[in-house]
Amino acid sequence: MDLSMYPHALAMSAKEFIEWSTNVMDDLVKATGVKKALDKVSDPLMNWGVRNSMYPLHFGIACCALEMAACSGPRFDNERLGLVFRSSPRQCDVLLVNGWVTKKLRPGLRRLYEEMPEPKWVIAMGECAISGGPWYDSYNVVQGVDEFIPVDVYIPGCPPRPEALIDGFLKLHLKIKGQGIGKFMED
Ligand code: SF4
Repeated sequence: MDLSMYPHALAMSAKEFIEWSTNVMDDLVKATGVKKALDKVSDPLMNWGVRNSMYPLHFGIACCALEMAACSGPRFDNERLGLVFRSSPRQCDVLLVNGWVTKKLRPGLRRLYEEMPEPKWVIAMGECAISGGPWYDSYNVVQGVDEFIPVDVYIPGCPPRPEALIDGFLKLHLKIKGQGIGKFMED
């Protein structure tokens, strides 16, 4: 085989070749309309998969965290809904804020949120996470987690019971269903 006939192939490293061929394939499927057809099939499938395998961060802040623990016990058994608590933010797609956030905790919580890969969602569980709770207007408690992190679902109560937590996750399912996951994957 005479490689001098393929100057580009000779000049490229393996990594560049993979990038180049990926771009060519991408342009090809876009130009032929195959991408649109594939998206029509893969988007709902991806959306269904993400909705039914949510990994909330295993992170307890205050008393609401006990309700989170009860929710993962055998009585409420959140794993039947595909909710599996994970301890590393890099493996999670839901940040469940379950207590009051002090000004000292705020940068750490923000960092945990930023370490989570996209697409990701946030649930504010209980009055403290929503508005500061009994410490509303206190000098050292943040007046709601949405002051520094975008919140998708609010679960009111002090504390919200495990049923309310499950209902919050089901509301999040509806929101994700409406948003579509393909949009997040392209960003
Ligand atoms: S909302 Fe009530 S139960 Fe939850 S962390 Fe605040 S004080 Fe505790």
